Amino acid sequence: MPTCQHCHQKWTWEQTMKRTFTIDTAYICPYCEEKQYATKKSRIQFSLLIIIPLAALLLNAFNIPAWFIFSWLILGSIVVLSLFPAVLKLTNTEEFFF
Ligand SMILES: [Zn+2]
Repeated sequence: MPTCQHCHQKWTWEQTMKRTFTIDTAYICPYCEEKQYATKKSRIQFSLLIIIPLAALLLNAFNIPAWFIFSWLILGSIVVLSLFPAVLKLTNTEEFFF
């Protein structure tokens, strides 16, 4: 689970998920209300996880039944989203991709 780099409090799964569904790249710590950002490494790891559900779309080219592709897409997305708090690492400063 992510730990705030400012107050060193560990966020719960639920607190992390709530913060994930905001458009802002900054996450506000529920304890000290300081802005936290995902580290570059955890964002790269998350991008790699996203490939799992998206791989279902590639199966489309191999005559795989649509219901199978659809369930993979849904289940894969649920798995990836539930893994997100485990992957997320926080930093005090925003790190850019490039
Ligand atoms: Zn904090």
